[in-house]
Amino acid sequence: METKVLKPTRENILYCAELLKNGDIVGMPTETVYGLAANAFDEEAVKKIFEAKKRPADNPLIVHIADLDMIKELAVNIPDTAIAVCEKFWPGPITIVLPKSDKIPSITSGGMNTVGIRFPLNKVARELIKSCGLPLAAPSANLSGSPSPTTAEHVFDDLNGSIPAILDDGNCTVGVESTVISFEDDIIRLLRPGKISVEDLKTVAPKVVIDKGVLEIISNDTKVSSPGMKYKHYSPKADVTLVSGSIEFFERYVSSRNSDDTYALIFDSDNISDNIKSIKYGDSGLQQAERIFAILRDVDKIGARNVYARCPSKDGVGLAVYNRMLRAAGFKVVKEGD
Ligand code: AMP
Ligand code: MG
Repeated sequence: METKVLKPTRENILYCAELLKNGDIVGMPTETVYGLAANAFDEEAVKKIFEAKKRPADNPLIVHIADLDMIKELAVNIPDTAIAVCEKFWPGPITIVLPKSDKIPSITSGGMNTVGIRFPLNKVARELIKSCGLPLAAPSANLSGSPSPTTAEHVFDDLNGSIPAILDDGNCTVGVESTVISFEDDIIRLLRPGKISVEDLKTVAPKVVIDKGVLEIISNDTKVSSPGMKYKHYSPKADVTLVSGSIEFFERYVSSRNSDDTYALIFDSDNISDNIKSIKYGDSGLQQAERIFAILRDVDKIGARNVYARCPSKDGVGLAVYNRMLRAAGFKVVKEGD
């Protein structure tokens, strides 16, 4: 199958909407990462997503909507805290997990009795959803396990030949996947960190609990609240290690392991010896989020075998960057003073 990369003109959006209505799957831009979309109600179409991505069947998909009313078809028993979150942060990069309605097939929710729902900010995504009049199930449009795609080219690199079309809306502005939360009475549980931070969530709920899966290794046979967190994820072929501590410690640590195919991922304001090849990945959490997945793809293209990364801060959106880097590094963290 030929994979068309299409500019997001009205005509092309309508063309992709037709594909979706006919049970096909399409690469869709969002503000977080590119998604691979299908009609959330159509089991056969959703099956194509799992096949194209080689995604484990128990990893649920997020369902994307383009107006608040669509939520009523998808979820039941919506708590007040969820409504407060939607009012404050939608459209935007946050997914809420709610008890699912019977209209959502089990394949879409990865066999769970809940469904993750998001109202994206990206205009092309919203126009696409509105044009087909369907909620769109869309996980990240990468091969399962590899870094999430933040450009149409990344989607093409992973899925060329297995999907009919990708709408190309340039670089994703957020760069990491949405924050995912669930609700227990008026408490919010953070299942996956994203741009909407713990600090942001505390403005709408008295308590925010960070799920164990955010910062710890979850074994494959453990039952978890957010299945995506237990899989090997975001991994380049290169071996990644996070190095926590001062820049002096970082430089000493990497120097003693340096070779031709070693690369350092450092902050923009860091200066290290020219003997170490380095890539800058931003100073603030927002900059790091925007760049991290493209960099994790680039390190493979330039033939890096070992990558040592400065450890991001865990504040604000930094927690999302840290969470993705931990997984890219297979949880290998070296700490100064250990
Ligand atoms: P992706 O769209 O590829 O970033 O994956 C979506 C992720 O959202 C999954 O891997 C889960 O971690 C999370 N998610 C989606 N739906 C649910 C749900 N019903 N319950 C818990 N987590 C969910
Ligand atoms: Mg994903």
